Amino acid sequence: MVIALKSLTKFFVNLKSSKIFVREFLFLTIGILLTTSIFLSLSFTEIISLFFLLIIFTFFTINSLGKKRNKELSDIKTIINAIRKNKFKSPEEIKLDKQLVELEGEIKSMFLRTQNDIANLKKLERVRTEFLGNVSHELRTPIFAIQGYLETLLNGAIEDNKVNRNFLEKANHHTNNLNTLLNELIDISMIESGQMNMSFRYFDIAEYLEQICNDLKPIAEEKNLELILHPIKDGLQLFGDKVRLKQVLVNLIQNSIKYTENGKVEVLVEEIKKFGRIIVKDTGFGISDSDLDRIFERFYRVDKDRSRAVGGTGLGLAIVKHIIEAHGSRMEVKSKVGSGSEFSFLLKK
Ligand code: ADP
Repeated sequence: MVIALKSLTKFFVNLKSSKIFVREFLFLTIGILLTTSIFLSLSFTEIISLFFLLIIFTFFTINSLGKKRNKELSDIKTIINAIRKNKFKSPEEIKLDKQLVELEGEIKSMFLRTQNDIANLKKLERVRTEFLGNVSHELRTPIFAIQGYLETLLNGAIEDNKVNRNFLEKANHHTNNLNTLLNELIDISMIESGQMNMSFRYFDIAEYLEQICNDLKPIAEEKNLELILHPIKDGLQLFGDKVRLKQVLVNLIQNSIKYTENGKVEVLVEEIKKFGRIIVKDTGFGISDSDLDRIFERFYRVDKDRSRAVGGTGLGLAIVKHIIEAHGSRMEVKSKVGSGSEFSFLLKK
């Protein structure tokens, strides 16, 4: 009795899950009934018997379809639950019935995409935490230094004419570093949140570079370095955002000055078909191959102490890279330890 009841319940469950086919089967039943009664000129009793036969046949077919559908649905539910609970390590573990091979493919690609998204989110989270750690560390250094000088002055050094001016100058130097760091952090956050508006137009590159080099010449001269701007073809126009490119060039030339002890810093423009390559090269310390891959990362410095001593933040080249990429171009570097470095990028003519 219990078994019969169970089978009946199962039968109705299957019927319920295949109810999407009921309309189609009713149509088929009526169709078969009408056709056979017309063509075979059946009597009323024969039609009624055929009708009942067809209805029973329909019920059993729908029931077996429902059974199949239930199994497929339960397989899909199991897979979705397993994905939700992170039980699969690779898409190969996802298996469905042969007939559902297309759906299996879709689920596999969805699984892969979700895995990638999760990996990217984890990476972003790691980068964010690392960035926050770096920012706090970079802020702490100048703030501690300023605090130290001010406390020493307040504790009596202010009356000591041999050191007071020097301490104030050092505190001032660290305040300037702090200011540079904050400005570069603002730039980085504007770039990364997509708020950096660019305004592209053609401009005279010779005039433009002349002005930048003239502004930076005194800094080079302070270190007894030559800053040479090589002659550029008259009237050569390049396409870009003048304000942002100035930031790039000042950064590159200042780096060359900062990391060169003797020799020269050269700026030149080479014409290559439809492009102009702007080159900044120096006879400085140079960068090793292993460091070359990383100098465009935020806060990466080959020599932390040397960079800090010359007011570096480790953010300059990260900003440079972003700006050049926003021009649809990319930064190129060649360098040899002890001989110097060459930074360059292309701009459209
Ligand atoms: P920083 O503020 O420290 O100069 P950057 O992002 O501008 O930071 O540069 C990253 C690092 O790359 C620098 O700390 C320095 O070690 C190295 N670097 C950049 N430009 C040069 C160069 N012209 N010559 C040698 N090393 C350089």
